[in-house]
Amino acid sequence: MLTKEEIISALASVTGPDGHTRLPDSGALSDIMISGARVAFSITGDPSRAAALEDVRLAAERAVKALPGVSTVLVTLTAERPAQAATPSSRPSGQPARMRGGPAQGRTPIVGVGRVIAVASGKGGVGKSTTAANLALALAGEGLRVGILDADIYGPSMPRLFGLKGKPEVTPARVIRPLEAYGLKIMSMGFLVSEETAMVWRGPMVAGAVQQMLREVAWEPLDVLVVDMPPGTGDAQLTLAQSIALAGVVIVSTPQDLALIDARRGVEMFRKVGAPILGIVENMSMFICPSCGARHEIFGHGGARREAGRIGVPFLGEIPLELALRETSDSGRPIVVSEPASPITAAYREIARRVKEALI
Ligand code: ADP
Repeated sequence: MLTKEEIISALASVTGPDGHTRLPDSGALSDIMISGARVAFSITGDPSRAAALEDVRLAAERAVKALPGVSTVLVTLTAERPAQAATPSSRPSGQPARMRGGPAQGRTPIVGVGRVIAVASGKGGVGKSTTAANLALALAGEGLRVGILDADIYGPSMPRLFGLKGKPEVTPARVIRPLEAYGLKIMSMGFLVSEETAMVWRGPMVAGAVQQMLREVAWEPLDVLVVDMPPGTGDAQLTLAQSIALAGVVIVSTPQDLALIDARRGVEMFRKVGAPILGIVENMSMFICPSCGARHEIFGHGGARREAGRIGVPFLGEIPLELALRETSDSGRPIVVSEPASPITAAYREIARRVKEALI
């Protein structure tokens, strides 16, 4: 069994980013994640010294790879964030820089990305990914440069939602070029490995892969990066939320009581890590019968709006249960671009305007 101590002692032979302190003593080394024979960690440094940092990264990778019992080493570089560079919206006033339990060095901005927002849900199947995709397109319609990071590694939806199949290129500088659709930059683990492969990954590997997609992808220049979070409010989501300097979070919920309870847990979790809640979207809010026009409130409409009021977070809007939404999502033509005159597109645009106002 590999231990952190063995890895730290192997890393003692590597000089840290300042050029003289040993890496383990330099303050630049993140926590070390071990999963079987795989090891992942990150090194923080000044992005203006990227070439020197890359040397440190390679030396660290070599040192750990040389240990018996190690099969794969994933070392990522993260940019240093000076305390005064924190954006007001990413850290509410009075909030300490180092969040409880969170690796402060991980909460660094992503080079060339203005704001990162997360789309989250308390549980799966509530329409989180559909909302993330259409919200991103509606934000682009507001004149912003937008990207989507599909962080739902066990069930990536973006390849299907955008009808994307190819593999992203890796540049000679080892940066991954995101795929593009409808003017958005899109990155998903679904482009790189099969769902079956991702299924057998353990938590630390997933966390490493998400960090790599955040920081080793050519996102620049973007005004907003929308992160489609894995569903739920467990440890994996918490770790991810702690590692990104989030400018805000959109919670998606259906109006059912059970989904609302889960959404409430999501709100609590993001509050705990100091990420501002931009608001709640009620999805599958009601069903309008296409033949008779009657309105059916299958899941009891309005629950999310009431809940938002009760827990003091903004209500961003509601999206009905609509066959066209499922069909356009499943055929890779999101409704905001394929049916621009639809009332649902208008509802996503309104949500996007509210999100944009809250961000800027
Ligand atoms: P999640 O990301 O929460 O797991 P998805 O966005 O993948 O959920 O949605 C789950 C399924 O529900 C998909 O087939 C999607 O097309 C469908 N869906 C989502 N929102 C709606 C809606 N408002 N009306 C009809 N179908 C929807």
